[in-house]
This record gives sequence, structure tokens and C-alpha cells, in this order.
Amino acid sequence: MNHEEVITCPVTANHIKIALVGQPNVGKSMLINSVSNAHLHVGNFSGVTVDKTEVLFDYKDYHFTVVDLPGTYAFTDYTIEERVTHDYLCAEAYDLIINVVDSTSLEKNLQLTAELMSMSKNMVIALNMDDEAQKENIEIDAVYMSELMGIPCVKVSAAKKTGIEDLLDAIVSIQEKNSQQAKLIFSEAVEEEIDTIVTYLTKHKYRAVNSYRNIAINLLKNNKKTYAKLHDDPIWTELQPILIEASKHVELHHDSDDIKESFAEEYASFNRGIVAEVLKQEDKEVAKTLTEKIDSILIHPIAGIPIFLFFMWGLFQLTFEIGSIPMDWIDAFFGWFGDTVGATIANDDIRSLIVDGLIAGVGAVVLFVPNIIILFIGIALLESTGYMSRVAFLLDGFFHKFGMHGQSFIPLVTGFGCSIPAYMSARILKNDRDRLLTLFIIGFMSCGARLPVYVLFIGAFFSPEMAGNVLFAVYIGGAMMGLIAAKVLKMTAFKGADEPFVMEMPKYRLPSLKLVWHTVLTKTMMYLKKAGTFIAAATILIWFLSNYPQNLLLEKEYETKIENAISEEEKTTLANKLAEANLEQSYL
Ligand code: GDP
Repeated sequence: MNHEEVITCPVTANHIKIALVGQPNVGKSMLINSVSNAHLHVGNFSGVTVDKTEVLFDYKDYHFTVVDLPGTYAFTDYTIEERVTHDYLCAEAYDLIINVVDSTSLEKNLQLTAELMSMSKNMVIALNMDDEAQKENIEIDAVYMSELMGIPCVKVSAAKKTGIEDLLDAIVSIQEKNSQQAKLIFSEAVEEEIDTIVTYLTKHKYRAVNSYRNIAINLLKNNKKTYAKLHDDPIWTELQPILIEASKHVELHHDSDDIKESFAEEYASFNRGIVAEVLKQEDKEVAKTLTEKIDSILIHPIAGIPIFLFFMWGLFQLTFEIGSIPMDWIDAFFGWFGDTVGATIANDDIRSLIVDGLIAGVGAVVLFVPNIIILFIGIALLESTGYMSRVAFLLDGFFHKFGMHGQSFIPLVTGFGCSIPAYMSARILKNDRDRLLTLFIIGFMSCGARLPVYVLFIGAFFSPEMAGNVLFAVYIGGAMMGLIAAKVLKMTAFKGADEPFVMEMPKYRLPSLKLVWHTVLTKTMMYLKKAGTFIAAATILIWFLSNYPQNLLLEKEYETKIENAISEEEKTTLANKLAEANLEQSYL
């Protein structure tokens, strides 16, 4: 046997090639130095930085090659360093990325991390400068952070040479498993567009090395290489308009006309979410940003929930107080419209079908539009200001008690408006079990269409002074039942450990009218289209079932009785009796 073959086979099998990436001055060179005991020069001279350095060393059964890439803050293609690093990461073959992060400035460093996560490569995060962090009383929960991000996060100190073996073990373990799922989550708008693109690619069975999700993200981010690849594909002609619409939608949500800026904001919200979960830091005397100042009030451990309850109370007051005014008008309008149209139709059956079936059915759908619009304006305001994500964060602990996730809150609140958009917004939940569980519970949140039914029953059984409180109790009672049902489902059908996900926290901003308008319009149209068809069809079906089969004999009998009746009162009583008798012998 050839001597060389014996040697090379195990070498290639046990070879791990690593791309070392981080922002400038996070200690990459020092880390590589500590890891490999090689004598690299640590420091930042101009000229040195743009070079890639390769270092080789052995650990356990593996041969490591580490490529030290130029430090870069993000990928925006502005500097040479960025381009060198980005090109290497996109085009070269390597097994995994070590992302070196400065623990003393976690949030800023994570900006690059989030970009790296969207590349769908195996990755390990080295939380470097752990010695400094300890000195500054900065506590990072690395275990929880690993769970949240789906990436191992290991505390190290390149200077003190601590945690180095843990880091290498994490690398070996990933290499051996080779199945990592980084959990990078975007806002609902971006996730929606990713879904659209992925669906399109799946439909056309596009052949690709990378995952469809990865391609979709790259396309949205305007990645030149991905664009160039798809540009020559026959599916491009149809895909291009989808992409243009998608960019517009994303930019609208960020109130910006630059997609890169929009994505930078997406990453920033994701990072703020991680930091809020894993970082404990004594308040330093540094100047806080506006967002941090507002957060210190709105997600305050004690004041946070009462403030939130107050907002919710206000929203419901508005919905039902203001919403009932146009409801009366709409009701009156459809009554008048039915009578007017009915007067022009001679045939009884056709008139009944059109007036009592069709017009009443459509009227019932339109009746709830004011309620839905007001609630959606409220939700869109809470969402576009950035408050909604904080609520998800605040309520996370509470929801976990019932086996749900803080983010379940958004679909559940939407469920008070209309269940259809609520079901659709459950998409933001990335964990299948959380999402299914939330979908089951949405039905317990009383949607706008149930309000008139409640009002009818409450009016019949309770005094007017009690009515308001009873109505409130019905709503709360429904929600409570939902939570109990969630708990039961979690203990039976949806058993299993919770899988935490990052809840992004966008920066606070004044609500954008354009965005609110867009959200309310699309959601209301969706309601009219989807609910409209079903509710109208159901009304017609019920009209038919309650009017047929017709009993002409019975009608004749009552008609003579009514004609012979003396007082108006008697006539009305008889007419009601006829309706009752008719209903009793109908299919319904
Ligand atoms: P690079 O630009 O990412 O390659 O960073 P360097 O390796 O040049 O390190 C930047 C500075 O941070 C140097 O002054 C290092 O001495 C210092 N440094 C790196 N790692 C650590 C660490 O773990 N703890 C402390 N205290 N300082 C570190």
C-alpha cells in the first residue's frame, strides 16, 4: 500500500477548517494565539488587518486550520475589510465560523453575529474578554444564550487563557453532529416575505445548494451574488415582481427606502431581544439612548404590567364605545336597503332569499368592520411604535406558566378583533408546538362577530346596570378558559420541553401613518374577503334551512286567522306564532 494514502485519509477526515470572524479589536488575534500557542503578532497596524492569516494546530483527534479574517462591523460592502471577509465567507469552503464577540459590548458586537447567522453556516460564538466583563460586573447567561440562538456560546478570555478548551470542545461537537439550527428571527413583515419567496422557489423546484430560506433572505437583502445566480434562471421573470413588492413591504415597515438599513434595524431588534434576556449589567453612568430610557419604564419589572393593562383597557374601551356608533348606522342602512330592494321584487321566495338571506348576510359581515378597524388601528399603533414586542417580553413568564410563549400574545390579542388575521399572525411563532398550541387557543378569544350575540343574551338575562360588567366578564372568562385549555393541552398532547426563542425588540419610534394605514387596510380587506364569503354563505344556508320545507297549509290557516283578527296586537301575536310554527317544522 502506498504510504501516503495511509497518512492522508485520516487527515482529511479529521480536518476542521474554521473561519474566525469578529468586529475589530475583539481579541481575535489574541484568541488564535492562545488557542494555537502560535506566535502571531497581536496588534493593529495598518496593512496587517486586510490580510488573511492561516494558523494550523491539533486538538484531540482533529487537525484545525483557522483562517483569521479581517475585523468588520457588519456587511454593508463599504470597506475593503468587509468585502474580503464577506467574499471569503460566501465563496470559500470551510466547516464552521467562530464568531469572536467582546463580552463588554455585547449588543454592538451582535450586529455582526446576526448577519453571520443569516448565512446558515455552522457557528460557535466565543464570548471573549470574560475577565474584563467580570471586572465590570457584566453577567452573561451563556447557557440560555446558546439555547435562544441555537448556537453554542462559550465564555473565554484570550488574555487569561480561560475557556479555550470548552470552545474547542464545542467546535468538535458541532463538527461531529453537523446539524445546527441557528434561530434567527425577523419581524413579521420580513418573515411573511421570506415565506412568499420560499413558497415560490418550492413551487418551481428551484435547484440550489443553500436552503431556500437562506436564498430568500439573500434576495431580500439585495445580495448581488444571489441575484446574479437567479437572474439567469427562467423563474426570474415571475420572481422579480415578487421581490419588488417584498422590498417595498419591508421598507414600508421600517419607514426607510434602503433595504440594507431596514435589515440593520431587523438585526438590531433581534439583538436587543437577546441582550434583554441574557445580560445583567449594573447601570453604568453612560448616556442612555432614547429607546433604553423608554424601556427602563415600559419593561420595568414592577410597573411594566400595570402600564400594559392600562393600554389594553383603553383599547377595549375605544373599540366598544366608539365601535358601537357606526354599527348602529350600518345596521340601519342594511335594514333600509333590504326594504327598498325587497319592495321591487314581486316573487316572495326570491325576495326572501335576497333580502333575508343575501343582504342580511352581507350586512352581518359589514357590521363588524368598525370594531375590527378600531382594534386593528390600536394593534397597528402598538406594533409600529415597537411596544408590542415589549409586551411579549413582559408576558413571557406568565405565558410560560400555561405552556405558551410571550409571542403568543400578539395572535391572542388580534383574536379579539377577528380570528382570521389572528390565525395568520401566529406565524411569528417559530416553534411548531408553540404555534399549534396558540392556534388552538385563539378560538377562546371572543372575536368581534360574537359581540352582538353576547349583547343579545346579556340584555335578556341581566339588568342594564350589570350588562357592562357581565360583558367584560364574558371576555375575560373566555380568555381564562383559553389559558386553562392551553395548560391542559400542554400537559397532554403538547408535552415536551420549552424551546426558547429570541423576541426581537425594535427601537421605539413614532407611529407611521402610512404603516398603520397599510396594516389596517390589508387586514380589513382580508377579513372582508375571507369572512365575507364564509359568513354570507352560512347566512344563506341558514336562511334556506329555516324557510324550507314550506308548509302552505299552515300559512293559509294563519293568514285567515290574521285577516279575521280584530286588534293590531292580536295580528302581531298571530304573525309571531306563524313564524314560530314555520321554524319548528323547517329543516333547521
Ligand atoms: P483583533 O483586532 O480582534 O485581532 O484584536 P486583538 O487580538 O488585536 O486584541 C485587541 C486588544 O484587546 C488587545 O489590546 C488585546 O490585548 C486585548 N484583548 C484581547 N483579548 C482579551 C481578553 O480576553 N481579555 C482582555 N482583558 N483583553 C483582551
